[in-house]
Amino acid sequence: MTYAASIAKSSTTAIAATPDGGESELKFLYGWLGSLSLHDRRLIGAAKQAAEWLMADASLRRLARTAPEELDAAFAARGIAIGPDAVRPLWDPDGATASDHAHPAMAGYDRWQREMAAHRAAIRRLGGTATPAFGAWRRRMVARAQGSLAPQVEREIVHAAAAFELASGCSVGCGFCALGAGRLSAVASYDGPTARLWGGMLAALDHAVGPAAATAFAYWATDPFDTPDYPAFVGAFADRFGHLPPTTTARGTDDVDLTRRLIGQLRERGGGPFRISILTTKQLRRLHAAIPLEDLPFVATAIQTRGAATYRIVAGRMIERGAALADDAPGGEGTIACITGFLVNLPERRVRLVSPCVADRRRPNGYRIHDERSFGDAADFADAVTGMIAAAMPMTLAGGAPAQLRPGLVPDAADALLLRDHHAHYRLADTPLMRALVPLLVRGGTCAGVEGVLVAGGHFPFAVKTTLQELFDHGLLADELDVRDGQPANPEIN
Ligand code: SF4
Repeated sequence: MTYAASIAKSSTTAIAATPDGGESELKFLYGWLGSLSLHDRRLIGAAKQAAEWLMADASLRRLARTAPEELDAAFAARGIAIGPDAVRPLWDPDGATASDHAHPAMAGYDRWQREMAAHRAAIRRLGGTATPAFGAWRRRMVARAQGSLAPQVEREIVHAAAAFELASGCSVGCGFCALGAGRLSAVASYDGPTARLWGGMLAALDHAVGPAAATAFAYWATDPFDTPDYPAFVGAFADRFGHLPPTTTARGTDDVDLTRRLIGQLRERGGGPFRISILTTKQLRRLHAAIPLEDLPFVATAIQTRGAATYRIVAGRMIERGAALADDAPGGEGTIACITGFLVNLPERRVRLVSPCVADRRRPNGYRIHDERSFGDAADFADAVTGMIAAAMPMTLAGGAPAQLRPGLVPDAADALLLRDHHAHYRLADTPLMRALVPLLVRGGTCAGVEGVLVAGGHFPFAVKTTLQELFDHGLLADELDVRDGQPANPEIN
């Protein structure tokens, strides 16, 4: 008897599906841009300028609300290469008509946004094409994230298979850094031994994780532009996986030559996206001055200016410092930790297995650390990765495994077969076994202990095992890390 069909998760999308496709799927964004005429790219670039200024500059948004007749002059003063009438939906979403949306600049920009969203969805989908144990573990972690994180936060998380830090710390030192980056203290160089190590690490990840390894990227609590050899590292990544990894930098306007070089690499090899964090309106002005309009569509931006109309996650340094949300930025709890897999620091020769969670005082950077190992060379790295998969990603429940609901998941007060998390709920099959099982999972125990109680109560051992396994596969049960973290199994049942 199977219970899979009866476990319905109804408040967010389904658990990741397994798609076709692989490396070439992530080339399309830049392929589409490359297929456009110069004129069309310039139109999109101009609309992008307007959108970025409206996002970054609260005074411009205020003007759009209170004195739209002054917008022409305000756009010109900021160097925006298009008039406000052509991009009305950006500043007057309620008043814009279908013909406003049909303006070639707006239509091109809308398409650009859809392509970016499709690219993100493709990365997330590719992440589901992993080797069996890694894939099953990822599905469980995705389910937890969907239950505990607000939908607008969770859908930004691509659950990439790995992130490689090519430096220790970050030179930028943003006060809002949601990953709590420390001071920059070391940077990897792409010299002979490191290049061989890098190639070996990518091969090991590819072998251990499968096609999903191609979703990895080469920054985290680091800035890629702190690593002068970044283009060489990501070039080797493209040699293996067929496309460049995503890049996000806050230094893209400091080193415009490197920005141009990356744009050139992306146009040639595909992948990305390439995103520049904009911390001040001065930087935005510099970006628009340095990059020709026709190349702006190759660069996405993350607007982080004071007064930005951007949703901010309270995590990392903001939690460490007990800081409130800055100015009028909307925001709230969550995480920006977007990998469900391996977090590697190359200079420190350290690899951790992590999954996203709501950032709080205990985990200010918004991820759980399931395991951590060090390595000296590529063979060590391969051993560490396969060892962590073997230790932390069981496919089947052992007798000593926790049999308790994952933290945050509780039966509804009026209906014990309806399990509720903060942002998801699950309907369980209405069977005598499930009715007997749920209270035991609330109390907590081991699988062997719970099975013993249920079998003594007349339930078939096979049915008990199958039901526990299905709940586990759907990510509804606590894992070993929860137990280590202080949610011990109930001794009465052990
Ligand atoms: S947000 Fe990015 S650029 Fe800023 S300190 Fe953190 S890692 Fe560095």
